[in-house]
Amino acid sequence: MRIVCASANPHKVKELARMLPLWVELVSRPLDIGDIDEDAPTLEGNAIIKAVEVANHASEWAISDDTGLEVDALNGAPGVRSARFAGEQATDEENRALLLVKLDGVSNRSARFRTVVALVSSKGDIHFVGGECAGTIAESERGASGFGYDSLFIPVDGDGRTFAEMTGPEKDAVSHRGRALAQLPELLARIFGLPTP
Ligand code: IMP
Repeated sequence: MRIVCASANPHKVKELARMLPLWVELVSRPLDIGDIDEDAPTLEGNAIIKAVEVANHASEWAISDDTGLEVDALNGAPGVRSARFAGEQATDEENRALLLVKLDGVSNRSARFRTVVALVSSKGDIHFVGGECAGTIAESERGASGFGYDSLFIPVDGDGRTFAEMTGPEKDAVSHRGRALAQLPELLARIFGLPTP
């Protein structure tokens, strides 16, 4: 089965590709699709915007993911605005730096990643799976792998390392995206009437 990836973020594409069932061919987002405005107030809304645009453009099934980091001491921020925390064109480095500044001297560092994955057909079918990963925000960056906020996020279901200190499969085993995508084989089986894996 072919599914077009609606995400343009190469790190996410890599994670999706290594976690999808082997019988799914993940097709790259068509190059002639420009930037897609992710201006919905919810993760679900943004995931749909991306997947619908790509599914319609490609006339195929499309998959997208929208992720937010919710920090308790910041009342759930940056949440749906995680990519733009330090400004509209903010880099991952700038977002991480701002997070450390906002949490300077703050003892409650609990947080969670929340991911919504949308699977959409060009005929208008819309399905969601979601995943969460609870953790804490480190006092300083640690680790060199991963992307986004990985070097600041210590999952509770780990051994104290940040996501950026883990291998890809170690992150997938406990991550928000891993937990969302783990539900995909069953969802695909249901949609296409295949035997449940
Ligand atoms: P979006 O889902 O691409 O809009 O991502 C929102 C923000 O969260 C961006 O700043 C990403 O870099 C960051 N992000 C998304 N997924 C992850 C992850 O798995 N680890 C760390 N940061 C992430």
